[in-house]
Order: sequence, then structure tokens, then C-alpha cells
Amino acid sequence: MSLTQRILLAMVFGLILGAVLQWADLPQEHFLSLYFLDGLIDSGGKIFVTLLKMMVVPLVFVSLICGAASLGATGSVGRLGGKTIGLYLLTTAMAVSMALCMALVINPGLDATEDSNDKSQYTAYEGKQAPSVKDTLIGIFPSNPVKAMAEGKMLQVIIFALLMGLALSQAGEAGVRIVSFFNDLNSVFMKMITMVIMLTPYGVFCLMVKLGATVGLEEIGKVFVYFITVTLALLFHACIVYPSLLKTLAGLSPRLFLPKMKEPLLVALSTASSGATLPVTLRTVQNKLGVNNNVASFAVPLGATINMDGTAIMQGVATVFIAQYFGYDLGLAAYLTVILTATLASIGTAAVPGVGLITLTLVLDQVGLPVEGIGLIIGVDRLLDMLRTAVNITGDATVATVVAKSEGQLDLDVYHDSEAGSAIDGMSERAV
Ligand code: ASP
Repeated sequence: MSLTQRILLAMVFGLILGAVLQWADLPQEHFLSLYFLDGLIDSGGKIFVTLLKMMVVPLVFVSLICGAASLGATGSVGRLGGKTIGLYLLTTAMAVSMALCMALVINPGLDATEDSNDKSQYTAYEGKQAPSVKDTLIGIFPSNPVKAMAEGKMLQVIIFALLMGLALSQAGEAGVRIVSFFNDLNSVFMKMITMVIMLTPYGVFCLMVKLGATVGLEEIGKVFVYFITVTLALLFHACIVYPSLLKTLAGLSPRLFLPKMKEPLLVALSTASSGATLPVTLRTVQNKLGVNNNVASFAVPLGATINMDGTAIMQGVATVFIAQYFGYDLGLAAYLTVILTATLASIGTAAVPGVGLITLTLVLDQVGLPVEGIGLIIGVDRLLDMLRTAVNITGDATVATVVAKSEGQLDLDVYHDSEAGSAIDGMSERAV
């Protein structure tokens, strides 16, 4: 069985087992709850996510140094950076605009108002203070790179690695020696990721058992139309918008793209964290889609940090939902503000589970909607978080591929080979 098939099987069996455990409604002190669910399964899932996260900082740091060093030699860093950031902002603005249109057609909030006069059934939510734009901007630069790495501050690590790579490209003999060391280290880290990825079926199984045992499907019933609207908008973006961008901007066949993304998609679905999925996304973008390390090492970590199209989609639909629910009438100017703030909020959303709801506060504040409205949708957010994280990472891979194609950094043979990079079991994947 291929790795993807094993992950899928683990997902299905995990969910079924979890659902059975939820149905059995075992008391907290039952040995199955104590030692199996809260013990073995919970630890298994957490260890898997931790192993993925363990790889993020070393991998981004080393692969970006290698990438920046060879980009520095060609002098194309500025152009590449401009294109990548521009496309990230564009796709996010497109995502939230499309989500707003869809929500305005479906009207998810009108439905909820009618059958839910009892507002007390929803979870209370208190808004949190969002950081200012100035602080966010200053915060991108590390005063202490070691601290940035220790705290996993991705943008700070990216800035430091980028500068170090550029400096190495200009440091003559010494630079060449050190870059060659980092290139070797990069290959070693890629092998480490392959080892962690081989554990994915077990990790995903544990995460899915936990999800199946804890998720409350009755929450969906309360905001069913909202749930469906977000899901439809996410599917539209992933299955229509991204393939169209690949076709029109890069002239690539989109048919090959999504099947190659299966592994990172499944990991994103089960972890709901684009940060934890980053090592798998990076490996796929390089080994399966054929994006050169020069582009991938910069575009993918940057995307995982600032590009959250799925999150922006949820925020667009949520804004319309909350406005309709509380009877606010938002005009065109307010919708434009939503597009702008959701795009910026996507930059500020950390790549971990659930943060999209926190940055939604920022969007609601801007258009004067009550942040307590978030309490209405919090119950279904875990499931939507899984779906939007899958869209977030698909966006990163799409932009990385488009930019690589435009820079002549895409290996078309690899892109067109449906088997490329899948020889993971024998660990014989193409050296990066
Ligand atoms: N979980 C999302 C991610 O990691 C962020 C969010 O929308 O909460 O991409």
C-alpha cells in the first residue's frame, strides 16, 4: 500500500474508533478513557505533531540559507520576494472577496436568526486585543536570532536566514565552504523529515481517534448554513481558483497538482496547523512538484507564516454571518474594509490551530461588529480549522509553483511525473 493509502486508512479507522468511543460514553475513570484515549492515543498524536514541529526551525533555517546563498549569487532575491509576497496578498484578497460574495448569496446568518432566538445556547466569547500594525512590523526583525529560533518566531528566522544566505553568497571562499556544509546539512534534514513522514499513518490515527471521540456534531446543526457556506467557499478556492491560477499564470496542468499534494493535505487536515505541516509541504513542493530549493525554501515557509487563504475565507463568511445574525447592514465600504483587514489578519495569523478565530476579532472590530459573535461559530471551528488549514497549505504550494515556473526554477520533468518523490518507503527519494 502506498503511504497515502495508509494515511487515509488510518484516518478512516481512527475516526470510526473515536466515534465508537464517543458513542460508548465511557466515564472519565474507565480504564479505556484513562489509559487508551487520554494515555496512549493522546500521547501518540502529540508526539507526532511535536516531531513535525521539531523539524520546522532547523529545516527552514538551513534550507533557506542554501536557497538565499544561490539566489544572492544570481541577484534575483528582490524580484522573487516581490512576486511571492504579491501573489500571496493577491490570492488572499481573492479568497476573502469570493467568500463574501458566496456568503451574500447564501445568507448564512438570516437562517440562524430565525431558529435561534435563544442566544444563550451559544458559547460566550470575549474579544482579545490584537497587536498594532507598527508592533507587528517591528516584530519581524530579530534582536536575537537564537531567541527567535528557540521561540519558533518564523518571520524572524526567515529574515535572519535570508540575510545570512545573502552574506554567504558574497563572502568568497569562506562563503563557498560554509554553503557546502549547509547543503549537506539540508540533505540530512530532508532525510529526517522522510523518517518522520513514515510515522504519519500512526500519528494521524491517534489524532483522528481523539477527534472522533471529542468532536460534537450537534454543534454543526446550530450553524449548519454557515458551516456549509465556509466549506463550499474553501472547496471552490482549492478546486477552481488555484487550478485556474496554475493554468493561466504558469501554463501548468492543474490535473497533476492536487494528487501530488495528498500527503501534506492529509497532515494539514489532521493537525489543523500549517506550521506543523510545513516540513511535509516543503518536501512535497520540492520532490513531487519539482520546485527548486531556491524558491521553495523561501516561498513555502513564508507562505506558511503569512498566507492563509482558507482562514481569510472563514473570516469573510463569518463576518457576513455575524452581521446578518445581529441585524447589521454592512455597505460596500465595510466589505472593502473586510477584504483589506482579512488579508492583513491572514498575515498576522499564527500557523497553529484555532488562531484564525482570534484574528477574526480584528476584522469584526474594523467594521463595528460585536466580537461576542465569535461565540456563535466557535463550536464548529475545530472542523472548519482542519479544512481551512488544508486550503492554506495548498495556497502556499500553488504560489511556490507559479513563482518557480516564472523564474525558470521548476523542474518540469518532476512536475509531469506523477510518481516523482513518492518512493518514500525505501527512502530513495530524489536528493534535494
Ligand atoms: N489553523 C490554521 C493554520 O494553521 C490557522 C487558522 O486559521 O486558525 O493554517
